[in-house]
Amino acid sequence: MIEVTKPFLPPLELYQKRISEVWERNWLTNDGPLVKELEARLKAYLDVAHLLFLTNGTIALQIAIKALKLKGEIITTPFSYVATTSSIVWESCSPIFVDIDKESLNIDPQSIEAAITEKTTAILATHVYGNPCDVDAIDLIAKKYNLKVIYDAAHCFGTQYNNKSILNYGDISTISFHATKLFHTIEGGAVVTNDAALNKKMAYLRNFGHDGIEKFNGVGINGKNSEMHAAMGLTNLDYAGAILEKRKADHDLYDQYLAPLKLDKPKISAEAGYNYSYYPVIFNSETECLQIVQSLKQHQIFAKRYFYPVLSGLDYVPFKEMPVAEDISKRILCLPLYYQLTAEEIGLICEIINGSLK
Ligand SMILES: *Cc1c(COP(=O)(O)O)cnc(C)c1O
Repeated sequence: MIEVTKPFLPPLELYQKRISEVWERNWLTNDGPLVKELEARLKAYLDVAHLLFLTNGTIALQIAIKALKLKGEIITTPFSYVATTSSIVWESCSPIFVDIDKESLNIDPQSIEAAITEKTTAILATHVYGNPCDVDAIDLIAKKYNLKVIYDAAHCFGTQYNNKSILNYGDISTISFHATKLFHTIEGGAVVTNDAALNKKMAYLRNFGHDGIEKFNGVGINGKNSEMHAAMGLTNLDYAGAILEKRKADHDLYDQYLAPLKLDKPKISAEAGYNYSYYPVIFNSETECLQIVQSLKQHQIFAKRYFYPVLSGLDYVPFKEMPVAEDISKRILCLPLYYQLTAEEIGLICEIINGSLK
């Protein structure tokens, strides 16, 4: 069986070595030494000023919205994972969808301006598949209308933009370290910002607002992550380079094998140092896309319609037509991509796709 993704697992003894140290210390959570070490190493690896390790990428979004004290309307993309929209609604704000650019599949900056009202307080955009948004255009709009910007950078581990981490853009970037992501801590996530005061605020928010043992600095939530999760992150971080390289090699193989079909793919930003985190292909029609899903399934291969359906169709948001996102969402498929996937397996997947579309 070939799934769309499989978590990376480091050699067990390397993980166990760190866990043994946790046993000796008997310090499992609450800003332990491994959490601190992981934060320091991630800051260096990702080249960012401030980073807080959290329980997951969804809490990261919620803490970001809370820290910026957002109210009213947040302009966002219909083409993302459900957490991008649900965290806006969870924080009692209204998601205002604008359509995506048909080449990058990221939020279309030209449509953002038209959606701004007196109630708009922020833009929450996703770097889809790790492909950077048009951050310069979004930055100009945000400055002009005095809006905050949060990037859902869940897919962006290792992505660069103009030779620096994409996580440096916007007021806050959030990232996910879920088991299915390129780099993971089993469950986990982080908020990243260049603003020291904002980082401090988010540190209070993730720890119940604790300012010492008996004092509180505002309302907070429990967004802390544990030593066990940090141990997995530290162990996996030593393989991040190898994982990124393998992703690129797999992309090249897929490109080569699928070349005869001349399939559409998202257009990666020219300024990007890309992390190749997913392998999405866009078929000519939904029928063709579903046909491929079926053909692969017959061979126990599971590609994923990702993202499908569009978030503007969720039953807890006001429906609005998003022609580009709806069209792409029906035709796009992410093919299997993970560290343990072999060249033979990629060959087989492409053979089935090529055969099915003949
Ligand atoms: C994975 C993901 C999230 C949620 O992250 P979790 O760590 O699973 O909570 C949010 N947004 C996007 C785009 C994602 O892919």
